[in-house]
Amino acid sequence: MDKIKIAIIGSGIVGLSSGINLLKRGAEVTLIERDFKGQPASYGNASWLSSPSITPVLMPGPGMIKKILKMWLLKDGPLYLRFPGILKSLPYLIKYLSYVKKEKVEHISKNLAFLLKDSIGEHRKLTEGSKANRWIESSPYIYIYKNKSDFENEDFTWDLRKRHGFDLIQLQENELKKIIPGLSDEYKFAIKIENQGYISNSQNYLDDLIEHFKNLGGITIEDEVLEIQKENNNYLIKMKTQNHLTEKVLVSSGVFSDKFAKQYDVKVPVQSERGYHLELFDTNVRINHPIANGYLKLAITPRPTGIRFAGLVEFGSLNSKPNPKAFELLMRNAKSMFPGLTFNKKLEWSGHRPSTVDSLPVIGASEKDSNIFFAYGHHHIGLTAGPKTGKMISKAILRDNDQYDLKAFDPSR
Ligand SMILES: Cc1cc2nc3c(=O)[nH]c(=O)nc-3n(C[C@H](O)[C@H](O)[C@H](O)COP(=O)(O)OP(=O)(O)OC[C@H]3O[C@@H](n4cnc5c(N)ncnc54)[C@H](O)[C@@H]3O)c2cc1C
Repeated sequence: MDKIKIAIIGSGIVGLSSGINLLKRGAEVTLIERDFKGQPASYGNASWLSSPSITPVLMPGPGMIKKILKMWLLKDGPLYLRFPGILKSLPYLIKYLSYVKKEKVEHISKNLAFLLKDSIGEHRKLTEGSKANRWIESSPYIYIYKNKSDFENEDFTWDLRKRHGFDLIQLQENELKKIIPGLSDEYKFAIKIENQGYISNSQNYLDDLIEHFKNLGGITIEDEVLEIQKENNNYLIKMKTQNHLTEKVLVSSGVFSDKFAKQYDVKVPVQSERGYHLELFDTNVRINHPIANGYLKLAITPRPTGIRFAGLVEFGSLNSKPNPKAFELLMRNAKSMFPGLTFNKKLEWSGHRPSTVDSLPVIGASEKDSNIFFAYGHHHIGLTAGPKTGKMISKAILRDNDQYDLKAFDPSR
């Protein structure tokens, strides 16, 4: 029997995971990427395989609007709104705020919990038989606070995590000092969650996944897709320098999926939520676990020879250059967390989280054409959810009898 021919647009973690799953299940897969060394969000993230990240960025609670304004207006706040791009994003932002309600957050968390569950196990399965699995590290997560009352102010978030089965271990100041040497005395309280993990080198991980994809028989094309055109019962993928004929298409182009999504009537609004990282090499301080700083809204991750500080949220900047103030802020934050921090080299990166208005990704077939599929919109959790998304969408594409229920992620919701 002839193999089913599938073209995937975009080789971030979602496209790669989908491609590997489809190949393992006997499909003929062509992965089209405009720049295989382009360092997309899948490269620059904080690299957490974070099953507890089941809540949206904005959470309901007393003084919510005041908190958002503080994040934006304070000199060292983690939220940026870029003009003029933000003006176009206003309808999205108004809708985004309408999801900051308890009952909506319960729905989001339930579905994210399902998607993020056992992320390390999913990454290990994805990388079985390849070199990529050497970059998967198991570790607890440490969420640090200046005092216990800051933690208590986030009780809805933590209560949701508890209800979804996460065991929260409280750490007092003396234990925190032992676990994170060099941490500023300002931090006096933390929560530990065991059995989590991270990717220790994101560039090498993506490179090894591409090699794995090729070793399984996958075909790669480096070119930019301009258009998907229906041609009889097939689809012609028009690129800058060539065309490719296929039977089914999966769009997994992160925030850039939107232009194909509109063509196929996807209803879910998506915007870029730009994020930044600062990576310091040969640091005098070495951390052993990923650390979340609830105060600065940062994720801090160990690297083989240093530390990556990642975070910040910037709306309206898909077409702008990275904001130099964001890198300065990350450096100030790094130094305030670890006074006396030294390093030999720094690298700065910024890229686009694909953020849906309801904080749930888009996973499933187009309502308009059942051979066009989408998997994108994973905002802050795409690395964690990539392999599970790949498994779910591959079952839908190959029309398995035991498909996942994708209703919550439906492109036409
Ligand atoms: C600062 C920051 C920290 C983060 N931390 C974490 C974290 O710790 N854990 C976590 O789980 N998630 C994290 N995320 C989110 C995560 O990185 C994203 O959700 C995820 O990488 C999205 O993956 P993707 O494959 O959908 O998109 P991308 O990684 O953006 O990949 C899309 C690919 O499509 C290609 N493409 C686009 N258009 C075309 C076209 N027309 N033709 C050909 N190719 C095209 C692009 O070149 C790109 O390579 C973070 C994000 C940021 C920015």
